[in-house]
Amino acid sequence: MTDHPLRNTPSLDAFWMPFTANRQFKAAPRMLVAAQGMHYTADDGRTVLDGTAGLWCVNAGHGRRGIAAAVERQLATLDFAPTFQMGHPIAFEFAERLAEIAPGGPDQRLDRVFFTNSGSESVDTALKIALAYQRAIGQGTRTRLIGRERGYHGVGFGGLSVGGIVSNRRVFPQLNGTDHLRHTHDPARNAFVKGQPEHGAELAEDLERLVALHGAETIAACIVEPVAGSTGVLIPPKGYLERLRDICTKHGILLIFDEVISGFGRLGSPFATDYFGVVPDLVTSAKGLTNGTVPMGAVFASRPVHDALMNGPDGIELFHGYTYSGHPVACAAGLATLDIYREEGLLTRAADLAEDWAAAMHDLRGRKNVIDIRTIGLIAGIELAPRPDAPGKRAYELFVDCFARGLLTRVTGDIIALSPPLILERGQIGEIVEVLGAAIDRVA
Ligand code: PLP
Repeated sequence: MTDHPLRNTPSLDAFWMPFTANRQFKAAPRMLVAAQGMHYTADDGRTVLDGTAGLWCVNAGHGRRGIAAAVERQLATLDFAPTFQMGHPIAFEFAERLAEIAPGGPDQRLDRVFFTNSGSESVDTALKIALAYQRAIGQGTRTRLIGRERGYHGVGFGGLSVGGIVSNRRVFPQLNGTDHLRHTHDPARNAFVKGQPEHGAELAEDLERLVALHGAETIAACIVEPVAGSTGVLIPPKGYLERLRDICTKHGILLIFDEVISGFGRLGSPFATDYFGVVPDLVTSAKGLTNGTVPMGAVFASRPVHDALMNGPDGIELFHGYTYSGHPVACAAGLATLDIYREEGLLTRAADLAEDWAAAMHDLRGRKNVIDIRTIGLIAGIELAPRPDAPGKRAYELFVDCFARGLLTRVTGDIIALSPPLILERGQIGEIVEVLGAAIDRVA
């Protein structure tokens, strides 16, 4: 295979790869060199079915001409312009278009949009908006931020501090004054459930416990992923998010949904907020915002949160922003992405596929060492029993085996996560399950 025309690999030494076992990878690299529709092409010319929409972001599939054309046009027209005390129309246009589909439904839309460049920046931005809001309404003692165990909110110091993944936290100092709800993963009661599990709504009462411990007047916000992705697809128990909303409202705590992966159609609604019918005060997004093509994130704020800051003294209302907030090229990519989502009905397409998707995934029940399967929208988490001596190894080997046989999956601990582009065809669901099932038989 070394003479394949697509193989043109430079030295691997200089690129310090993120969230990667660098030495392991560089000893046996897995290289992707092209992508179209539902597929990647590997450097040996093999076609690989994208079971993960890249990294939960390429919701409209790869190689979309409309996005490429819009980006090219924008680069030729206005490549960059600042948004600090200056403006350019496409940033306002994109925000307006996002406002039309913003989470929350017609009556409570979170239709004020702050642009960032990533999910991590969206999270830190939302946490800062929450703190600024509390101060603006005369609640400046509220500085505490509550996250949840097994939560992932990116890698900024804010997101890290409210996040709940030990390996991400261990080495780094964290913000003072954070605390964490217990996670909702309860396989003893909820294994092999399609959609929302029955048991665990009461875990939301943990917030009452933290209020009792710290005092409501010290707590600014509580952030959760409506569906936790990075720690292995944890779906909220029925009634859990509703209860969390009620407790936040009761105590004046802002509720933030981190929709970096659940936004833009993943569950079959534009946002998980709409899917679950629970409206937070702030929503973070990124990834599917531009179909993963140009880095960009956005925070959606409710009118009351936004307006509280706009009613303050004259001058800059929020001392926060990024050089590339509302970057014109990212906005162009985002607008073209929204056009595709609308024309192809992609923000609701997962709802049509969800039943077949769940049925196919749950067919893997009974295979060797499969201890749980969780599905919602176009997401699946397949949990394996860890090897006693080597946690994480079984799922990692499965991931490597699937890739060798033409399927890209994502591995986290001993869980395989799947989140294909929303253009997935029904026949491809079968393909995914076939490759995965055979890989489990071989490896697990
Ligand atoms: N929040 C959630 C829920 C995520 O899943 C992720 C990334 O996967 C992030 C935040 C961080 O996003 P980024 O990697 O774009 O900074």
